[in-house]
Amino acid sequence: MSLVSNPREVEITDVQTTRIHGNFTWTLVRIYTDAGVTGTGEAVLGPKADEYIDYAKRIIIGKNPVDIDARCTDLFDRLIHVGGMNGIGVTAISGIDIALHDLAGKLLEVPAYQLLGGKHRDSVRVYCDSHAGEHMDDIDDAEGDPYSPASYADAAEEVVGDGFDAIKFDLDATDRYELDTRNKHLNARAINYRADIVRAVTERVGDRADVAFDCHWSWTGDSIRRLASAIEPYDVWWLEDTVPPENHDVQIQVTQATDTTIAAGENVYRVEGARRLLEQQGLDILHPDVPKTGGMLETKKMADMAKAYYIPLALHNVSSPVGTMASAHVAAAASNFLALEYHAREIEWWDNVIGEAIITDGQIEVPDEPGLGVEIDRDVVAEHMAGDDTLFEDA
Ligand SMILES: [Mg+2]
Repeated sequence: MSLVSNPREVEITDVQTTRIHGNFTWTLVRIYTDAGVTGTGEAVLGPKADEYIDYAKRIIIGKNPVDIDARCTDLFDRLIHVGGMNGIGVTAISGIDIALHDLAGKLLEVPAYQLLGGKHRDSVRVYCDSHAGEHMDDIDDAEGDPYSPASYADAAEEVVGDGFDAIKFDLDATDRYELDTRNKHLNARAINYRADIVRAVTERVGDRADVAFDCHWSWTGDSIRRLASAIEPYDVWWLEDTVPPENHDVQIQVTQATDTTIAAGENVYRVEGARRLLEQQGLDILHPDVPKTGGMLETKKMADMAKAYYIPLALHNVSSPVGTMASAHVAAAASNFLALEYHAREIEWWDNVIGEAIITDGQIEVPDEPGLGVEIDRDVVAEHMAGDDTLFEDA
């Protein structure tokens, strides 16, 4: 029995947002309809995404929510002069896109992955963002140096002990041996220190886990080429966000200069932003962020374009369980998917946002319920809401 007799006659009546303060600000988005059915999404890493969504919602109010591509194309096109191509505008539209997938799935009574072409897998591999230093469970293990290579290996041991067979560390957590971070140059000692971290972690857990390392756009092309070359013997899963993201020529040179696998993509927006990097083999793994760089449908399009260049997809993710589950549906639907990030190991109430644990033994089982298959716990959201926000309406 369908929730509504004709989903095509349903109209969007309102879009509301509520921001949660977790380890990042998670902007939850709810779309309301005249059928009484709602959809919930998330935009993340967008300061003032809530204000942008409030500005953009006039474009979809009164329209039908099941034509997701048409709704999002209208948003991208009509906002192109105010961020519809890049940055915060795309992030805000990503949140709307996710809410539309939840809503359309409920109206059509199919899981969100079905709207993306169906699934290739029932569960999705998750990699755990990991930290040495002050983030370790037992900092006393660090023997006085929480950022020593051995401390990183200890931290890796903790995370693998949680059941993850895929992890990632930051290689820029300290600027040890960098004389001047402003010039983005790594001298030999700085490179050797980072190579020692890579060696210590991969030697400790490499037989049980794939290990990636993130550079957060910190260093020059020359420095990164030398670092990537130095870690080639350790066979890392990938080296991420190597050089600053504005100059794709340098990104392409770095990728082609090393046997170390290079990943990037959380700072390119939409298919158009990734196009040249894919065409010119400027990365070995495309790593976009569903609730930031385009939404579910756009990320599926990016994944399909990457597939044409034999490039796999990993998904950057720092969102709440809502955005994470949206990413899991994309992961299920993209044949070239590798792994989805989990970035909230230290947020004890992360699962409580949806009232259930979704990551088990490093995997997310993709729900078969209509839409995203998760519902927020309003009490938990209210408890962690950004100070001046009001909780969006229930229905
Ligand atoms: Mg990154």
